[in-house]
Amino acid sequence: MRLDTMLGNLTNNYRGGGVFMIPVFKVAMAPDAPERVAEVVRSGRLEHGPRAEALEAELGRRIGNPRVATVNCATSGLHLALHLLVGRDPYRPDPTPERDEVLTTPLTFEGTNWPIPGNGLRIRWVDTDPHTLNLDLEDLERKISPRTRAIVVVHWLGFPVDLAELDDVLDRARRRLGFRPPVVEDCAQAWGATYRGRPLGNHGNTAVYSFQTIKLLTAGGGGLMVFPEAESHRRALRTRWFGIDRADDRTRGEYSVPEWGFRCPMDEISAEIGSANLEMIDDLLAGHRANAYRYDKELQDVPGLEHTERPDDRAPTFWAYPVKVEDRPGFMRRLGEAGIGTTVLARRNDDHPAVAAARESLPGLDSVADRVCYLPVGWWLTEEQREHIVDTVRSGW
Ligand SMILES: *Cc1c(COP(=O)(O)O)cnc(C)c1O
Repeated sequence: MRLDTMLGNLTNNYRGGGVFMIPVFKVAMAPDAPERVAEVVRSGRLEHGPRAEALEAELGRRIGNPRVATVNCATSGLHLALHLLVGRDPYRPDPTPERDEVLTTPLTFEGTNWPIPGNGLRIRWVDTDPHTLNLDLEDLERKISPRTRAIVVVHWLGFPVDLAELDDVLDRARRRLGFRPPVVEDCAQAWGATYRGRPLGNHGNTAVYSFQTIKLLTAGGGGLMVFPEAESHRRALRTRWFGIDRADDRTRGEYSVPEWGFRCPMDEISAEIGSANLEMIDDLLAGHRANAYRYDKELQDVPGLEHTERPDDRAPTFWAYPVKVEDRPGFMRRLGEAGIGTTVLARRNDDHPAVAAARESLPGLDSVADRVCYLPVGWWLTEEQREHIVDTVRSGW
């Protein structure tokens, strides 16, 4: 079936000033999703239940790691992941109170980083690698110190971080400092990405996916935590819901909470939307990749435009297509005039007044922050639109 018929007429175009723009993001909604949701609503069973559990099992099967837990959004998942690994708890002794920093990337959406102060920990910014737009592993290595409590990495645009190199950095840190900081991988933009042939969520760290509305796989809102071992998985299944075992009989109050928790499981409506959309996700992803590889070829040697790296040991998702351009305002204006949407996606997170105290010199980020820009690349582009984008970029700005 063709994607446009699979997607029915439920998808929207973002329009600027009433003018049709080729959108950078589009919501991918299966045509049978509304009817499936209506059935859930009629059933009256709306909170986390069998549908969320079925989706969870299927996502774990696809990733190849059954230690998964659905949550209501990736931000909750990142918050809970940090809490489980390194969170502070006034009712438990903290054996390493001097470790109060989490190393992370500023080139991301704020949802990556706010769970760090949310867990009572300080942000320490790691510079950006201009070739990948992910965090710079050499700067990370320099900054791992006796104060490092954890590390957060983002697979930006679904381009996997070099996880083998990261592993080496952590091994060296262990030899140098006597401990290995735990890592959380933000896979929000990376459903379907692989590193050395395996989906993200299989490389020894806690990983968190997002199914927010404009992510590749959407549940309306939702997320998935993936664990490297059984113990943190078991804890997550309880602490995502107050620390209570849902199987306990609570009617007589005969249950107990060994570890307090939060309230962030995925609900049944989101799970049904996610399950409906999962059926088309592989085709959507193939569309993103095919368009991206065409751009890679057809946008070679454009004066004033630089590409990011494409090592062959990983398969990115190309949630959006990154370019580094001279005169970014001019570039975006020119494409806008031609009916092509572009975006800068997120403000560098170290710029926000809320975390001004964490500012430090980040020359790698400085070298790209005013040049990065993202082009429409998704499954919704027609051949004609893609050619129009290529021709417009090639004609200069
Ligand atoms: C979307 C996104 C998030 C937040 O995901 P939610 O599911 O909306 O909480 C976090 N990090 C990155 C990189 C994202 O793109």
